[in-house]
Amino acid sequence: MRRHSKPRAFKLNPEQCPALPMLSSRTLGTMSDTQQQLLVMKFGGTNMGDSRAIRHSGSLVGRSLTQGAQVVVVVSAMSGVTNQLLSIADAAERGDIAGANDAIAAMRTRHFTAAQELGAAPDSAEVRELRELHETLRQAVYGVYLLRELTPRSRDLIVAFGERLSAPLMSVALTQQGFKAHHLMGGQAGIITDNHFGNAKPLSTSAERIRDRLGGLLSAGITPVVSGFMGETEQGAITTLGRGGTDFSATIIGAALGADEVWAWKDVDGVMTADPRSVPAAQNIAQLSYGEVMELAYFGAKVLHPLAVTPLQQAGIPLRVKSAADPDFAGTLVTAEPERDDSRPVKAVTAIKNASIINVAGAGILGAPDVVAEIFGALARESITLLMVSQSSSMSNVSLVIPGGHEERTTQALSTRLSAQGLQLEVQRGVAVLAIVGSGMYGTKGVSAKLFGALAQADVNILMISQGSSELNISVAIEESDVDTATRAVHTAFGLDAASGA
Ligand code: ASP
Ligand code: MG
Repeated sequence: MRRHSKPRAFKLNPEQCPALPMLSSRTLGTMSDTQQQLLVMKFGGTNMGDSRAIRHSGSLVGRSLTQGAQVVVVVSAMSGVTNQLLSIADAAERGDIAGANDAIAAMRTRHFTAAQELGAAPDSAEVRELRELHETLRQAVYGVYLLRELTPRSRDLIVAFGERLSAPLMSVALTQQGFKAHHLMGGQAGIITDNHFGNAKPLSTSAERIRDRLGGLLSAGITPVVSGFMGETEQGAITTLGRGGTDFSATIIGAALGADEVWAWKDVDGVMTADPRSVPAAQNIAQLSYGEVMELAYFGAKVLHPLAVTPLQQAGIPLRVKSAADPDFAGTLVTAEPERDDSRPVKAVTAIKNASIINVAGAGILGAPDVVAEIFGALARESITLLMVSQSSSMSNVSLVIPGGHEERTTQALSTRLSAQGLQLEVQRGVAVLAIVGSGMYGTKGVSAKLFGALAQADVNILMISQGSSELNISVAIEESDVDTATRAVHTAFGLDAASGA
């Protein structure tokens, strides 16, 4: 079942038509209202890092506006701010209010400097808003300090200030170029979520609300600037969508509005065949399917929020991952059904480091599926992420790979029940999961042989193997110390060093 939804016909993409004359939005507004392109553009932390980066990001929006497109802008916090806010919240909980306030003051300086450099007047609405937001942040942090209690709900309130503070800066950048802009919080833009603070999911009611909140602005010629990463519950409490969640905000909005495309602007050339830090020969991937991109995100390629493509999948809306430094480069195009390239069944190699294997062994597992159910149940209750699972067909052992740092919790969750069954638990730390990803593996023979051959030749020992029946990935657990050698060897073996794209 690889071929489900038909790709949508592409509308004219002005970015790819250099011959298109530069028209003012006013001319185009009256000229081609019916076929006006709607884009949702997401800017990550680096693209919002300082006034220079924000001005550049604003100019990328301006380019498309000038060419007659409507754009919804979704922004991340300035780079580093999310982590700073998390430490500020932790400091307050520990009672270090002085440290927390110093960090807030430094952050305030950074936002004010950016606003000023972008040309905002000291008495402008945006600067006043920045001042008020910092004051509210200070009070929220003080509340945590007084209570010495940091609930997931207060952590979300605090951490979402990063995106609330960067949106007015983008508004300034757009206004300075002569465009009309209006910024909104995620909830104000219509993103309504469940109350799973820290990892909230959008509710289906969001779609209509998003159309309601943003449609009017767009038809009035105003560019909405939405604070990414955040939403709110039906009761109005601020939630966040999980780290890297601004991608998800953009695709939720894109799907709700039926956008032509969602563009995720990054500081990289799109999705790469491997992490360029460990594989210098890594190349840009021209085309991926939604499934492949999800698989890549899951296996540690920090390119998109793992759920980001899910809203686009149903609607069949393409996603582009584009480099802000090289806007004319196509980047990576993610669609339902990219062209299949049989000469390249594997599109990327990823690795998750710092993992551990938990091996559950003993005759008690033999012919006892309820024990296996028990194992998964215990892990689910503890919300422990499973990176890999493998079970021998004799059923005498089950091996699990989990992220490092969760070994104790995992063994504790398993041991009560399992010792009664006479089962032994073994923990092996310092493990990495290497995965090859590509839908072309489906029905292609010899892919795993090539993988294992490359690893053997690089003298890498395999600890565990698993292949999902979707055949979108094959993953192996190896010693973490081997991971860079292994990744490079596998990258070369699958011909990715010379990738020219699909
Ligand atoms: N600022 C948030 C983070 O760093 C969300 C995002 O950047 O997408 O996780
Ligand atoms: Mg970020």
